[in-house]
Parts: sequence; C-alpha cells; structure tokens
Amino acid sequence: MRAPRTILFGWDAVQATGPAASDFGATALVCTDEQILASDGGSRLRSSLASAGVHAEYFAAAAPELPRSSIDQCLQFARSVDPDVVIGFGGGSAMDLAKVTALGLTHAGELDQYVGEGRVPGPIAPLIAVPSTAGTGSEVSPVAVVPDAAGTLKVGISSPALIPAVAICDPQTTLGCPRSVTAFAGLDALVHAVESYTAAQRLPDWADYPGPVFRGANPLTAELALSAVSLIGRSFERVLDVGDDREARAEMLMGSLKAGLSFAQAGNAGVHALQYPVGAQTHTPHGLGVALLAPYVFQYVLPSASQAFSEVAAALISEAAEPSPIPSAQMAVDEIARLVEVAGVPRSLAELGIEHGQLSGVAREATSIERLLRNSPRRLQVDDLERILEAAWNGDREPLKEGALK
Ligand SMILES: [Zn+2]
Repeated sequence: MRAPRTILFGWDAVQATGPAASDFGATALVCTDEQILASDGGSRLRSSLASAGVHAEYFAAAAPELPRSSIDQCLQFARSVDPDVVIGFGGGSAMDLAKVTALGLTHAGELDQYVGEGRVPGPIAPLIAVPSTAGTGSEVSPVAVVPDAAGTLKVGISSPALIPAVAICDPQTTLGCPRSVTAFAGLDALVHAVESYTAAQRLPDWADYPGPVFRGANPLTAELALSAVSLIGRSFERVLDVGDDREARAEMLMGSLKAGLSFAQAGNAGVHALQYPVGAQTHTPHGLGVALLAPYVFQYVLPSASQAFSEVAAALISEAAEPSPIPSAQMAVDEIARLVEVAGVPRSLAELGIEHGQLSGVAREATSIERLLRNSPRRLQVDDLERILEAAWNGDREPLKEGALK
C-alpha cells in the first residue's frame, strides 16, 4: 500500500495548508485556477499560507483541457520561484499540473521521457494536493494525466514518486462545484472504486520489487473500494439535487479519497483504457467519457467477476427503499447505468460525437494501454473492445449480455 505520508480530512482542513507547507520551507508555488482561487476556499488557503509565514506565488491558469503550453509556462515560472513545496489546489488538472511541475523542478529533460509506468528516476519536489472536486483521487494517486507532445492524446505518467506528500481534503472547497462537474467527477470516483474492486488479483513477484505501479486488487484496496462504493451510492443523487448538502458533500469527498487510495494500488481497467482515446477524439471531460463507457465495459466483464459485482451491488443498493434479498451482479451494472442516466450523461458514443468508422481505431489505441487492461477481470483484446464499443456506440447493452447472440 502506498499513500501520502499525511492525509487530512475534514471541514476547514484547508486551514492546515500553511502549517503543512511550512514543514517544507518558506516558499510555495500554488498551481490552481482563477475561479477556485477567487472562491471562499481560495481565500482561506491564501490566508493560511500567509499566517504560517509561507511566501506563496500563484500560477492560476490550470484548465480542464490543459494545453502543453500551459505546462511549459508553469514550469518556467516555477523555476523562477524556486519553491520549497508545490501545492496543487483545484480539480484534477490543477493537481496534475502541480505533479508535473514538481517533477520538472527536480528532473531535467522533456516530460515525454517520463510517460508510462515507473519511469520517474527518484523523488520529486515536495507536493501538497488540495482537491476542490470529489472525483479524480489525484490527491493520493501516483498518476498525472497530461497531453502528449503533439497535443492530440492524453498520456499518463505513473510513478510512486508522484504521490503527494500531503493530501488535504476539505469538503468546504467542493460546495461551489457546479452540478455537471459534480456529476462527472462523482461518477469517475465511483468507477475508480468499481474497477479497482473488480480488478484481477495477481500474485506479487517480490524479486521484481518495486515492479508495476498498478498491481491488481488486494485486501486493503478491497475494503477501501467497497466503502467508497457505498458512500458514493448513498450521496451521489443527494449532492446532485442539493449542491450545498454538507453531509453528502463530505461523503462524496471521502468516497473519492477512498476510491483514489484503492485504484492507486490496484489500478483502473477497461473503462479507463477506452476513455483515453475517446476523450482525445471528442475533447470531452474524463469523467463524462468514463461514465458513458462504464455500463458497457462492466456488462461485458461481469461474467468473469460475478461475485465481486454482486458485492458491489450490495454496497451500492444497500439503502434502497425496497430491500432485495441478495442483489445480483447484474443489479450493480443496472444501478450504475441508472446513476449515469440521472447525471445527464449522453447514452451513446454516437451522441458523444464519435463516428462509427472511428471505433476500430479507438479499440486499437486502447489495446496499447496494457497497464490498465491487465487489471481487467476479463481479458480484453481488440475484438472484445470492438464489441464493447459497438454496443456503446448504439447505446444498447443487450448484445453484451451473457448468452446474447454475437
Ligand atoms: Zn478516472
């Protein structure tokens, strides 16, 4: 199990940012965006740094579709600031920007040489992550997602060195998150929990230590993932209906933290492998693509992990008005599909803007993401991915059900 050395969670925890930063030195660089910096949480973060005597400089241009040029600008600015600690404050993009900036401050060379698994040669500049959405789990994960050099594809840098030293999770910072962002981020977190709970289990090869970053499910990730599923299942619709429901916001953030800790070891699988090329083709948010694809991928892999999916169903539907005796694996997929629909996610890849002729290219690109596909409980080769994509393009899960005619 790998995790930040310190995780703070609770209302107004953002006040601890200053003291936590001062542990590393007197100068901080904060990677964030204008909107979150101008929010109430932003002003509390700034005053916390100031009262702890930390001199902070702000790079407030993190955006959801972060162009490569912004990353270069941020790194250039960071070199002029020469901070003792880098703070990522915002959604996934702000935290990922902080990660690659801390990486670039310590290790010279082009970002591309670190793309892939386990290619960061050693520790990076100290990092504090303060999420403002309940979703990516980036505050505890070893991953940063960045555009490739050509700017056409998103690629992942995965290394334990990218795990922040400190994660500060304050539900207050998520209160102002708009409904659609809340929905897509929340479903992303749910999928992190389900993909890592149903991930293949692999026997570790200790002689190969440290081995792959993502290692499949283990007993600790299973506990965290299942608990994340029930927290999110219980609070997701409440937080969409009433954005300032404090209890629901806190449960969503705790759910996303636990899901992040889980997938940070176990890894995500087929849903995420397919979202990368789909997101690149359609320029749609990560959480939206993940949510759209999840019911189709889960439908297809279900026969290989039916026990795990029925446990997911029990956690997800435990508080349903009508208690059913033993939830079936199929109920987990149906309930996830229902939540995806409630969130207002398009039903099909066609609606998302994918042309039918693009499907085989998407499948081919996804097959190259071995670090994710090897976690799938059911082997996903190119023809499997094509079947899933065909169903997702049509918006119909039926052909993926066991026993359905191919
Ligand atoms: Zn994700």
